Amino acid sequence: MLSKKMEDALNEQINAELWSAYLYLSMGMNFEAAGRPGIANWFKVQFKEEQDHALIFMNYINSRGGKVVLKPIAEVPVKWDTPLDAFVATLEHERKVTSLINNLFALAEEEKDYATRENLKWFVTEQVEVEENAQVLIDKFRLIGDNGMGHYMLDQELAARVYTVAAPLATAGE
Ligand code: MG
Repeated sequence: MLSKKMEDALNEQINAELWSAYLYLSMGMNFEAAGRPGIANWFKVQFKEEQDHALIFMNYINSRGGKVVLKPIAEVPVKWDTPLDAFVATLEHERKVTSLINNLFALAEEEKDYATRENLKWFVTEQVEVEENAQVLIDKFRLIGDNGMGHYMLDQELAARVYTVAAPLATAGE
């Protein structure tokens, strides 16, 4: 059984993951409108991954006999002038999410809730990957600067990103 404090914190995290989904969807729409379909695709895949993150927390709360509470999702920004701006904002945002995950991990330890702590390990690893992905793209956009061919090639590269369901959801029910 989850403590009330842990349950509330996990519900807050669901909201944070859904806010992330909303943020990346907004970025996707921004770049779709700007004629950058590859970047739009990358953010739309990220939108789905963030929904997976929220679902993993929802499934977990339910599996522990807790109550999922979906709260309103706050407004997200709507305008990024350059891809670099958006990926810098992505990295900054994900660093905040990492600290939220770390806080949850610390709370689980404080509460001696080892099941929750184990469940959070996937997210600890996932955040390393998410931050690294953003940093790699920041580096690439910095490298190409305002080179049109560079932007064209990178857009093609990002168009190839394909969504795959997050591992904890793929194995759910086994
Ligand atoms: Mg996330």
